[in-house]
Amino acid sequence: MHEWGLGNGKRPLVIAGPCSAETSTRMMTTANELVSAGISIFRAGLWKPRTRPGLFEGVGSKGLKWMQKVKSETGMKVCTEVANIKHLEAALDAGIDILWIGARTTANPFAVQEIVDALKGVDIPVFIKNPINPDADLWTGAIERFQGNGMCKIGAVHRGFSAYENSMYRNPPMWQVPIELKRRMPELPLLCDPSHIAGNRELLSGISQKAMDLNFDGLMIESHHNPDEAWSDKQQQIVPVDLYYLLQNLVIRQVNLAGDHGNTLEELRSEISFLDDELLDILQKRMEVVKSIGHFKKQNNMTILQPKRWEEVIDTGVKNGEDRELSHRFINNLFKAIHDESISKQTNIMNAEEQDNKLNME
Ligand code: PEP
Ligand code: MN
Repeated sequence: MHEWGLGNGKRPLVIAGPCSAETSTRMMTTANELVSAGISIFRAGLWKPRTRPGLFEGVGSKGLKWMQKVKSETGMKVCTEVANIKHLEAALDAGIDILWIGARTTANPFAVQEIVDALKGVDIPVFIKNPINPDADLWTGAIERFQGNGMCKIGAVHRGFSAYENSMYRNPPMWQVPIELKRRMPELPLLCDPSHIAGNRELLSGISQKAMDLNFDGLMIESHHNPDEAWSDKQQQIVPVDLYYLLQNLVIRQVNLAGDHGNTLEELRSEISFLDDELLDILQKRMEVVKSIGHFKKQNNMTILQPKRWEEVIDTGVKNGEDRELSHRFINNLFKAIHDESISKQTNIMNAEEQDNKLNME
């Protein structure tokens, strides 16, 4: 990260600030608290890409003056999102130090190319967030468009991916996508945005630690002096002092001895931990479905154990497992353990409802 001339060259490089610029006073308060927390790069969204209309869409270019004030009064570098040429020109005129391209913009090669073309001859760092869909090619393509310009210092930001199903994350991280980007572009600075992945502040430190364990270069985190009053993304923003403790508590491990990326025992072990975590996420989702089936069986007076269905599950599992080089014995044991847990979940549902019924009758 040294060549960026930002921070002290040590991981993690941290960009922090509110989701949106709201008022000049609010921004200055947050900025001053962030300086006390040791942050030197300030973020705030002026033009907010909202998925649905009617939500706060940002203060627009009038917030540029507030960014200039943050910059001159705190000495921090300032960073904002641009999504079109109008934003870009206004940001450059105002002396914004760093730009980021939002997830919805990265997903659109026309929009990316327009910004790239308008940046010809301009030397400014640009961070490119992953597209909202988990497509490593689309992300790589947007980065290549900027690299083709030759002038800008480019970085990437992993902010998770939209999902249709319910998940504990607002945007599930699907770590295999940034891992693939890192494999393709090992020298590219890669930050993680745990705020938009999590959607709530409780998950921020775990996600940040994972990013560090995967050798990400830094973090972009939303921080607001009073998150409960924030005009956008209030659940995921943290106060600067909590950000300070989050950063203090991160364990920053050595990359590796030989300095080569991707092959060390440490990195392979991290990858295993992520995959294990994903297995648990999938098991949790499976148990949610199991519970719905439990309610259905109860309503329809069906037995919990359905031997024919269970035989089918095992047969399909063994066959699909063999295609994946997983032994018959292993699949049998694995599915038996899953089945036991499913039966116990459904038994709890039946019992709980029986108790409810009893109480209702009393
Ligand atoms: C943001 O950083 O505030 C933002 C809108 O992010 P994303 O493009 O990742 O949704
Ligand atoms: Mn946000």
